Amino acid sequence: MTVLEQQDQDVYRLVKAEEAYQQATIRLIASENYTSKAVLEACGTVFQNKYSEGYPGARFYQGQINCDQLETLAIERAKKLFGAEHANVQPYSGSPANLAVYLAFAKPGDTVLGLNLSHGGHLTHGSKASATGKWFNAVHYNLNPETGLLDYDEILRLAKEHRPKILIAGHSAYPRQLDFARFRAIADEVGAILLVDMAHFAGLVAGGVHPNPVPYADVVTTTTHKTLRGPRGAIILCKEVHAKAIDKAVFPGLQGGPHNATTAGIAVALAEALRPSFATYAKAVVENARVLANELVKRGFTLISGGTDNHLMLVDLTNRGVTGKVAAVNLEKAGIVLNYNTVPGETRKASDPSGIRLGTPSVTSRGFGPAEMLKIASWMDEVIVPEPRGERLAAIAAEVEALCRPFTIPGLA
Ligand SMILES: *Cc1c(COP(=O)(O)O)cnc(C)c1O
Repeated sequence: MTVLEQQDQDVYRLVKAEEAYQQATIRLIASENYTSKAVLEACGTVFQNKYSEGYPGARFYQGQINCDQLETLAIERAKKLFGAEHANVQPYSGSPANLAVYLAFAKPGDTVLGLNLSHGGHLTHGSKASATGKWFNAVHYNLNPETGLLDYDEILRLAKEHRPKILIAGHSAYPRQLDFARFRAIADEVGAILLVDMAHFAGLVAGGVHPNPVPYADVVTTTTHKTLRGPRGAIILCKEVHAKAIDKAVFPGLQGGPHNATTAGIAVALAEALRPSFATYAKAVVENARVLANELVKRGFTLISGGTDNHLMLVDLTNRGVTGKVAAVNLEKAGIVLNYNTVPGETRKASDPSGIRLGTPSVTSRGFGPAEMLKIASWMDEVIVPEPRGERLAAIAAEVEALCRPFTIPGLA
């Protein structure tokens, strides 16, 4: 960092401030994580300097001797980790990866069926605010309002009614595992392509604590930076029969040159995920979530579906007399960072909804265990009230910082 420090004080100062901020606060944002130092190093290399339009062995620029090996290494590691026939590691992020799948299998105006955004789906699953909802005829399934669970009979009914080209399974805020055999059967019943978007839970799949969608799905997309703990990017896995269509959709269909330096970081993260220690990590993520969920329920919080069996929780704060936004803002003042979120059957607007979403991937990466989960629940119980006292929030922020001190975040360790 010394060169950056000498050359650009403004950016250097912000990097240092962000390091201190991440170290001193508890991060419960379910989609975030801390990459290892090795991943950070791999992302900051001279692979930034190279254009590699095309694929290994078939590029449109010369000079690919090392880039070809690098991308092949990432591809092979991705295939091995998830048991996939084909992998494309070039998508810039999760959203472009999903758009590439639409481009490969659907025409504008075609019907797709995915989980409603306000029920835990993702923007790219056909939300009206997203290109996927503007360019395609998106139909949505909801969670059962009583149980907070996916209703597979309802998904089948909608599939039969609307005959989607693509059936999308996957979510950004569903605290339970998915039944991929059921999704496969529904897709087969109507002749749809089954896309599983495992952006949130890919790391749990890699660690063996969540069923693997790869044997069931035609295509699986994932971000690399959530539970998978790599740099910001994405991977598309698919059956060999779809390999050409997917590769063509990513490049030249949607993107130009791949971000080779990110590919290096992805390769490093995939190797980390192939180690036995990553299975231990994934298990701890789920165990921490279970402990935190149980403690929140004990303290009177309303968890959608009653709990969790993955890395995240969705909490309806209506009975606390506080909106999700107010809770999130007050928690931030107390050093606890999470996001406000809509809940199934939401009656408020998305910018100030009834709930919060929280997850354990980040805190587990820095070494928190069950004891820290109980502490977090007690702070949440104190902060999520109609009018918490400002001095108390500041005092909790100091307690949070003290708790965090011995748990150095991975990139800084
Ligand atoms: C995060 C997420 C994405 C999008 O990833 P970006 O990298 O933010 O574009 C796509 N699908 C799901 C289910 C996600 O949770």
